[in-house]
Amino acid sequence: MLHIGAHLSAAKGFLHMGKEALSIQADTFQFFTRNPRGGAAKDLNPQDILAFQELAETHGFQPILAHAPYTLNPAAANPETRAFALQVMADDMKRMEALPHNLYNFHPGSHVGQGASVGITRICDILNTILTPEQNTTVLLETMSGKGSEIGSTFEELSEIIQRTVCQDKIGVCLDTCHVYSAGYDIRQDLDGVLEHFDRVIGLNRLKAIHLNDSLTPFDSHKDRHEKLGKGSLGLEAIIRFVTHPALKEKPFFLETPQDDITGYKNEIALLRAAVD
Ligand SMILES: [Zn+2]
Repeated sequence: MLHIGAHLSAAKGFLHMGKEALSIQADTFQFFTRNPRGGAAKDLNPQDILAFQELAETHGFQPILAHAPYTLNPAAANPETRAFALQVMADDMKRMEALPHNLYNFHPGSHVGQGASVGITRICDILNTILTPEQNTTVLLETMSGKGSEIGSTFEELSEIIQRTVCQDKIGVCLDTCHVYSAGYDIRQDLDGVLEHFDRVIGLNRLKAIHLNDSLTPFDSHKDRHEKLGKGSLGLEAIIRFVTHPALKEKPFFLETPQDDITGYKNEIALLRAAVD
């Protein structure tokens, strides 16, 4: 069975997101831990969490995927920018323990002229500060498209971050289909080759989640513009081949396609389930 969810608004709490997920035939979802621009997080409501956990258990949910604000830059040259990323991520780690055994995804960041190797050192400093052997959350590095000076657009860079992290069993990768295609990995014409490369450099066992998006811009364009499934340069056939690939079909997929409302996600999930299940 296909495990799939979509990015939902966290404004009305976890139980609400769980019910929304059910209403679109999803068995997981993604949400921002706080305003994506990075403000203070709302207080967690223990009753809401408990009600969600009951619903998730009843309906056999997969782990849910928290997403850090995308404006954080753990690789920044500016110490204040880095301190802010550290503070937000440390706070998120603490809050995630209220919902144990779930996933937390973040963008590794941009080195902004310092060079990738300095940027990677800064990212690892933050990870080695916030990760503890006791925590119940797996932190995911997202594959990036490589726009500007983004780190994480090659499997080798992600692998280096993992290798230099102390709590390696708390680290995984979230592969974004739009980003990797934009970064120059041809998952449309050579999916087996790309997966073999990923497995050799990172290990497919580290692949814990997939952001399932089509791409508005062409292959290898180093842009980050998501598109609805089947409407972009990847195309529906490649997307179906992706979700049905033997090495991927058990992984959880998360839609981040541009939609006016939840009906758009519902239609995409129905389309995928019809093709897969
Ligand atoms: Zn992301």
